[in-house]
Amino acid sequence: MAVISPERLLSVWEQGARRHPIDRALLLYAVAAPDLPVEQLADAPLGARNAALMALRRASFGAQLASWVDCPACGERMEFALDAADLPPAPPASTEPIVVGGHRFHRPSSRHLAALVNADDPESAARQLLRDCAESAEALPQDDTALAELLDAAEAAIEAADPWADLALAVACPACAHQTEASFDIASYLWEELDSHARRLLDEVHALAAAYGWTEPEILALSEARRTAYLARVRA
Ligand SMILES: [Zn+2]
Repeated sequence: MAVISPERLLSVWEQGARRHPIDRALLLYAVAAPDLPVEQLADAPLGARNAALMALRRASFGAQLASWVDCPACGERMEFALDAADLPPAPPASTEPIVVGGHRFHRPSSRHLAALVNADDPESAARQLLRDCAESAEALPQDDTALAELLDAAEAAIEAADPWADLALAVACPACAHQTEASFDIASYLWEELDSHARRLLDEVHALAAAYGWTEPEILALSEARRTAYLARVRA
């Protein structure tokens, strides 16, 4: 797994800054999986995308992920350090459809997510996602109750087949002991990190260029150790 170089980091940040989060995730996926053809990334299962993003994150910024969630019962902010090694092992990448009640469902992909951006609420988005994933939507039951049952079963089967598609962690509130599930979105987490790294890097380029007259490519080509050493001298 390649580490993001300072040069690449700034270029990805620049390209992604004005894009929708789904497209930002695809940009990061292209960095994380350079061997996959770019035109296939949008159709890859979300679990495969998330596993690749996590590997990129580990390689670039380490395995410890600091995160937080507000307790839904008492409002207490729970902070926790998540270790990438504690997550369920990524299942082998598979694009095999999942069969439920005789219906075949594709694994949700970035393209499926993009089709939901105008959904009214999370409930109807979840329903639409499952319908979109069905290999033949016209074969789905017409009866509302039967459809609801099938879609619930499909949701459970997809989650079981690919827990990395929507990572969730069980956390207990230290204040009120309420147990809750915190969802962990590696794509937005990694983007936030990349954004703050990019801004810090730009500050560093600015300080070194102003002090020494070096160009941006010259400064980005320095190792982190050298950049830090020169910055310490500039700021002393
Ligand atoms: Zn609580």
